[in-house]
Amino acid sequence: MASVEQQAPEEVAVNGNNGSAGSIAVENPGTGEVIAHVADLDAAAVHEMAERARQVQPGWEAMGFEGRAPIFKRAQKWIMDNQDRIIDTIVSETGKTYEDAQLAEISYGAHAFGFWAKNAPKYLADEKVSSSQLFVKGKKLTVRWRPLGVIGVIGPWNYPLTNSFGDCIPALAAGNAVILKPSEITPLTSLLMAECLQECGLPPDVYQVATGRGATGKALIDEVDMIMFTGSTPTGKKVAVAAAERLIPASLELGGKDPLIVLRDADLDRAANAAVFYSMQNSGQTCISIERVYVEAPVYDEFVQKVTEKVSALRHGHPQGPGSVEVGAMTFPPQLDLVEKHVADAVAKGAKVLVGGKRREGQGYYFEPTVLTDVDHSMEAMTDETFGPTLPIMKVEDVEEAIKMANDSIFGLGGSVFTKDLAKGEAVARRIHSGAVNVNDALINYTALELPMGGAKQSGLGSRHGANGIRKYCEPQTIVVSRSFPKRDIHMFPYTEKNTKRIGKVLKLVNRGKK
Ligand code: NDP
Repeated sequence: MASVEQQAPEEVAVNGNNGSAGSIAVENPGTGEVIAHVADLDAAAVHEMAERARQVQPGWEAMGFEGRAPIFKRAQKWIMDNQDRIIDTIVSETGKTYEDAQLAEISYGAHAFGFWAKNAPKYLADEKVSSSQLFVKGKKLTVRWRPLGVIGVIGPWNYPLTNSFGDCIPALAAGNAVILKPSEITPLTSLLMAECLQECGLPPDVYQVATGRGATGKALIDEVDMIMFTGSTPTGKKVAVAAAERLIPASLELGGKDPLIVLRDADLDRAANAAVFYSMQNSGQTCISIERVYVEAPVYDEFVQKVTEKVSALRHGHPQGPGSVEVGAMTFPPQLDLVEKHVADAVAKGAKVLVGGKRREGQGYYFEPTVLTDVDHSMEAMTDETFGPTLPIMKVEDVEEAIKMANDSIFGLGGSVFTKDLAKGEAVARRIHSGAVNVNDALINYTALELPMGGAKQSGLGSRHGANGIRKYCEPQTIVVSRSFPKRDIHMFPYTEKNTKRIGKVLKLVNRGKK
């Protein structure tokens, strides 16, 4: 198993500053300080990792669910026992708040270990199949799920535990070896999880961390049997092409531009609280963040007023422990430029900034929590993924216009509808073209690991969670067992006129259909 020490120790330090040509400096975006260096692994190093993974994978698979589950249960406990240390690591490499790390990372990681330990055997159990096909009558038909072998997971910087490491858990649970390439911006949590798994009894090299940049991710695709990618849509397309060239499966969780619709009969306090929380938590750097809001005209002014008050009250800055700030730093420095560009573009085209609207000067990378009104779809802030603490709000005439605007996007990850009429809410949800829609809520679908989570349109291919969230790391193998031994089946050689006619009659009988 890869750990900090095992990856070219001369180039890796967790709290030092001994960078060299082949290393990457890890910065704390909340303070701008360099907090560690990790190795920038090249294709040869990734190849060696894959060879080690291939050696140990059969043994890991042979341990079976009953052998693997106790390790996952220990890891679940390890996460809770070590949560302060994990939160410190996540906060230091992302600049997010204590609560963002606790609610969306610790809570997810611990739950996921327990969930997959319990549910992997159910989702991957052999399926006994019965068929109406006469040719297989009396035979035993089984579908089994065989792990693919070595899985590559490539992750983004916004949730190092949930989105980078989280996808390794079902891949491992299925009996695969996994190599994780975390974002170069946030590699430390993935390395800490290597320590977790090692202490919990995972055999060496079953989980390895390939720290590096985009080139390391590219090299990983060349080595593995399946690639699980989470990141931006442009990079996702490159990953899809690289996977297609090797003809390996790829599961892609990509960008989003999630809409929130407020209908005239909505509980406006709940809608405003949800809009503010789910657009600003994690500084808006969540694939399923609320990125744009459509409000029916009769309640527009009241909703905007409520949102403005709430966003003005948010505390913003570097967290000094629990409860200290609501909105933290931007994790990826260039992201600040993009958020600034979207706000400037909106303002140039007539938008009003009601709160915030600019980056904060001084140490660290911060953008003020921002509310925009008078927005429309000529503006990047309404059409492109902003991935920052901004909430553009647009007035719409009616529910039809709201649905039309919500669907006017290349993305289709999530969405929300607020109304007290639940039947109407569900009907609207069914008309939003996205992977998930919450009625009187947002994002919360992500926490229920029984529910598939994936993107429509350019938000991705495939899904995580639920049965497909583990079966995608396997290939289905069909096994047909003939339990009786007639010397010759009727359709076998030699062909005779009599047999052919008999088969013709049977085919007519079983496929008679209806007039
Ligand atoms: P990127 O697409 O920039 O990077 C994602 C990962 O891919 C990083 O580890 C990156 O390495 C690596 N990478 C870059 N180039 C290549 C390449 N050619 N081949 C293989 N790997 C490569 O995304 P971000 O890290 O900026 O993450 C933010 C994006 O992720 C947003 O669009 C967000 O919506 C999306 N996302 C989607 C989620 C979902 O579930 N749908 C969840 C979370 C985020 P490096 O960082 O070292 O360059």
